[in-house]
Amino acid sequence: MSKYLGPKCKLCRREGEKLMLKGERCKTAKCAIVKKNYPPGVHGPKGRATRQSGYNLQLREKQKAKRIYNLQEKQFKLSFNRAIKQKGDAGENLLKILETRLDNVIYRLGLAASRAQARSLVAHGHFKVNDKKVDIPSYNVATGDIIKIKPASQRNRQFASLAEKLKTMEIPSWLNFEIKGYSAKVLHLPSRENFELKINAPVIVEFYSR
Ligand code: SF4
Repeated sequence: MSKYLGPKCKLCRREGEKLMLKGERCKTAKCAIVKKNYPPGVHGPKGRATRQSGYNLQLREKQKAKRIYNLQEKQFKLSFNRAIKQKGDAGENLLKILETRLDNVIYRLGLAASRAQARSLVAHGHFKVNDKKVDIPSYNVATGDIIKIKPASQRNRQFASLAEKLKTMEIPSWLNFEIKGYSAKVLHLPSRENFELKINAPVIVEFYSR
């Protein structure tokens, strides 16, 4: 399936909730979910079905997770396939795989305004993990990993006024950021309560298990 290039806010309106795809704008009254929380299309506010089939609920939850983490179907399915091969609950494993992606970690640290921007910053090679350059957005961090902004990138416009920005950032408890060394540490792997948005992972497992 080709990459969706249309308006991001339409994706949130389709799912009926904020997916936080546009950085700062998502936190303002300009957010399309604040202004018109109904699905895009000709049916307007009456467009959202009140009763949905089990299949549709599963599909919507999968689409929501895919959009939050800015993934194509193929990439998302690969993550799912990895999750079911791991020990333990497949849904929980899937969420951990998604949340520990390097692009997501950069976003959660407040070093990028959105996951899409974080992905581009990682791909442009601005970060090191354990002193090695990593430019793969899907790279999964592990407990104890140290993520640093490369010295040459610290002067980048993107990281200007970082200390100021971090004052208002809520960094999740499984991560720690030290402005002095421009580095972050993974304190432990995230668990259910550490995710930014609620995702019903068992429903996604059901979707792929049909
Ligand atoms: Fe648009 Fe962000 Fe609001 Fe979603 S959360 S509708 S991307 S402004």
